Amino acid sequence: MAQRTKKVCTISYGCQMSERDAETLTAISAESGYRRTENPEEADLIIINTCCVRESAENKIIGKIGQLKKLKERNPYLKIAVAGCMVQQPGILKRLQRRASHIDIWTGTFDHHKFEELLHAANEGQKIALVSSDASDTAEVVPLAEKGKLKVNVNIMYGCDNYCAYCIVPYVRGSERSRPKDTILKEIRTLVLNGCQEVTLLGQNVNSYGKKDKFPYDFSDLLKEIDTIEGLSRIRFMTSHPKDLNDKLIATVAEGKHICEHFHFPFQAGSNRILHAMNRDYTREYYLERASRILKEVPEARITTDIIVGFPGETEEDFEMTLDLVRTVPFSQAYTFMFSKRSGTVAARLPEQVPLEIKKHRLQKLIELQNAKSLAWRQKMLNKYYEILVEGPSKTNLEQISGRTRGNEVVVVKGSEDLTDTLVNVKIVSANSWTLFGILD
Ligand code: SAH
Ligand code: SF4
Repeated sequence: MAQRTKKVCTISYGCQMSERDAETLTAISAESGYRRTENPEEADLIIINTCCVRESAENKIIGKIGQLKKLKERNPYLKIAVAGCMVQQPGILKRLQRRASHIDIWTGTFDHHKFEELLHAANEGQKIALVSSDASDTAEVVPLAEKGKLKVNVNIMYGCDNYCAYCIVPYVRGSERSRPKDTILKEIRTLVLNGCQEVTLLGQNVNSYGKKDKFPYDFSDLLKEIDTIEGLSRIRFMTSHPKDLNDKLIATVAEGKHICEHFHFPFQAGSNRILHAMNRDYTREYYLERASRILKEVPEARITTDIIVGFPGETEEDFEMTLDLVRTVPFSQAYTFMFSKRSGTVAARLPEQVPLEIKKHRLQKLIELQNAKSLAWRQKMLNKYYEILVEGPSKTNLEQISGRTRGNEVVVVKGSEDLTDTLVNVKIVSANSWTLFGILD
């Protein structure tokens, strides 16, 4: 009798890097014979790839893990793996295991190369946990992405050494290490042969690519070489830490052919006192100078940012400086967060924690301001023509398709699904704070 094909359902939380890890784990499962499904109800394996950057994400994940208990009761053959940053937090594994005895595999951020073995052991009926404490004996795993995938995230570096006072990333992703240029180029060439047209180069601080590893080339050199790969339509990159954003990178983006004019350029806080307490290593004045340099050299550039409100000790005056910065720099979009206490970080131990009500109020004010700015930005695009890479049918209306501009704005257009995976020109006819609507040129 033919055996039924097993299915894997992956649910990922957090940043692009986390998404990339989820891809890796899913691809490893595919190599072990699992086909993808979006539906947890029909899965034989569920992978929850976790995030711990903020408490809100963690709470959501804990709720999700709890819900899966019912599925496991209904299907005792189901295997559940919980992977990633949350599991990697020092001292947390035992607590998680106690709360969720229905989980078969617990694994951290440094153990992807062992996932196939873990899966095998789970299928033999074992409950296992493997959470290595550092990256030193981590083998690089880069399974080729599924054929025909239009957009792929590519790690160019791992970890972070910046230790921003609020951030847990260095504790769960280890210290900064860059992948050699040739390995990255080889990966991207293979992706392109498999149908990929857009790559996003990922690193916590792409501008310091290769510095610590003393590579004889830097991030701009890497970008220039990727830009020559035949068949690749778009190159994105994130995140640009302001302290390392140099003129060479700005010029490289200005001169690049396929390099998208988009800088994800988090400022976090507008007051120098708070920036110093955050250990960000730049000032407000320096940030403003870099942003205006970008806009001068790359007039089409989009600048997006991350902002935290309610860092310990943040006064109304400090917060006003954040609002002022948002009024000054024409951000096309901002990701805004309330400060969240992360155990083990410097900021978690600071006195003067800001009360939740104040944090909520500040966040609300900031969102209102940025929404108005985002809308104004999008309205400036009205009646102009843009190239979009069509990603598929629009989620809300099947007669429409949706894609993104080089600046990463979402554009919805009336058109046939057959245009998926192609570059088309559109004229923008209307806009709200999040989406643009266009017509095919
Ligand atoms: N490496 C990137 C950021 C990665 S984390 C950089 O340096 O810009 C993504 C975003 O989450 C951060 O930019 C920050 O705005 C937010 N963040 C990180 N830790 C946080 C915390 N403890 N509370 C609230 N927001 C946080
Ligand atoms: Fe976190 Fe700062 Fe590193 Fe970004 S640069 S990952 S915010 S420690």
